[in-house]
Amino acid sequence: YQRDFEERFNIPHITDVFPDAEAIRSTFCLKMRSPTEDFSGGYPSDEEWHGYINNKDRVLLKVINYSSPTSAGAVCIDPDCTWIEQWVHRAGPREKIYFRPEKVKAAIVTCGGLCPGLNDVIRHIVITLEIYGVKNVVGIPFGYRGFSDKNLPEIPLSRKVVQNIHLSGGSLLGVSRGGPAVSEIVDSMEERGINMLFVLGGNGTHAGANAIHNECRKRRMKVAVVGVPKTIDNDILHMDKTFGFDTAVEEAQRAINSAYIEAHSAYHGIGVVKLMGRSSGFIAMQASLASGQVDICLIPEVPFNLHGPHGVLKHLKYLIETKGSAVICVAEGAGQSFLENTNAKDASGNKVLGDIGVHIQQETKKYFKEIGTSADVKYIDPTYMIRAVRANASDGILCTVLGQNAVHGAFAGYSGITVGIINTHYAYLPIPEVIAYAKSVDPNSRMWHRCLTSTGQPDFV
Ligand code: ATP
Ligand code: MG
Repeated sequence: YQRDFEERFNIPHITDVFPDAEAIRSTFCLKMRSPTEDFSGGYPSDEEWHGYINNKDRVLLKVINYSSPTSAGAVCIDPDCTWIEQWVHRAGPREKIYFRPEKVKAAIVTCGGLCPGLNDVIRHIVITLEIYGVKNVVGIPFGYRGFSDKNLPEIPLSRKVVQNIHLSGGSLLGVSRGGPAVSEIVDSMEERGINMLFVLGGNGTHAGANAIHNECRKRRMKVAVVGVPKTIDNDILHMDKTFGFDTAVEEAQRAINSAYIEAHSAYHGIGVVKLMGRSSGFIAMQASLASGQVDICLIPEVPFNLHGPHGVLKHLKYLIETKGSAVICVAEGAGQSFLENTNAKDASGNKVLGDIGVHIQQETKKYFKEIGTSADVKYIDPTYMIRAVRANASDGILCTVLGQNAVHGAFAGYSGITVGIINTHYAYLPIPEVIAYAKSVDPNSRMWHRCLTSTGQPDFV
């Protein structure tokens, strides 16, 4: 074996820039104290001092050794080539911490689009900070914009404020796209005396968080910047799943079921459901699998034709003739080559996608008219309804653990990191590793094949 975790997944620590940074005994311990005790400055006694994670603890990132290159989704492990083991840092509370809780001013910011579970993560960051003894916790309103807009005051946060916020979806702090330059954000952090920043967002937000971390280092500011990946699409590299995904799949099933009922109850009914997934089809694939009511699942990773002898429309005709109705589930990023490219960008610089759902609806209607019959096509776009729901139980728990571990990571002196679940364990990763590119569905994977066996759809090329 060749082990490369030292170079590749090493995470930046405060002592890299401040070798003499003072470490103190942790104020967080597994034995919870009575809330009536004054916690500030109260450090665990020897009996309470246990259960910490060692900085050398690692989680194995890759665990499957494929036996042959023909295994579905296989990465060929040639006996002649070196198998590189990849390990990442285990998340959790450390025995030594690099911030005195009474000197911490922690800020939380949520950026990008909404995702179920944002409030759950905010809630647990605040609660865990309080358990460490931090008194000064604020929310930055409306994403990075809140750092520069003088009309948007900080939101003071405490256990009392966040107690019930997880009962509704959205973000207590608000979100936004675009916003000030990184230098302006760091100026503002300096001005406000923020030395812990928790950033909840997707790839764009994490690119910003990493730039903030680097700028803080350049200015020799003793600051911890920790991300919690928020992507409803589940397209963050290396992670088993990201929060909100489970909830999104569950909610997406409801839309698929409605499309099925509509299609099934109409003469030559066809239901089209567009789901999230700009570059990755995980939600469409999982929701199709879970519902069992989808006849055609279209994702960005798998090319398809609408027209022609092997096109989607031809198969729709077959479905109408044999079953009487059909349901299509399409990811928003699929089939973009069929749509006019407007080159439009949103405030964050993301490409504005064309509406593939509308396109499929129109083309289907046209096609059935051309072949001398009719089709009753109903189009459902549940995107905003799905994004706004509150997290389900399993996402709620995931958010809780991620929020707690974000705080542990900051106190441990790590910065420029993000937290995720890897092979069922919680781990810290350097931000650049998770945003290198978007994770996508492998068209040769077992899972995509399972989806195809469920829908019964042929190849559309
Ligand atoms: P979503 O999954 O909802 O798209 P996201 O985090 O990718 O989440 P964006 O709107 O792309 O959402 O970005 C969020 C914030 O991050 C914006 O305020 C944007 O200005 C900032 N941002 C995006 N990319 C970068 C970058 N490369 N460097 C610095 N900041 C960035
Ligand atoms: Mg994004």
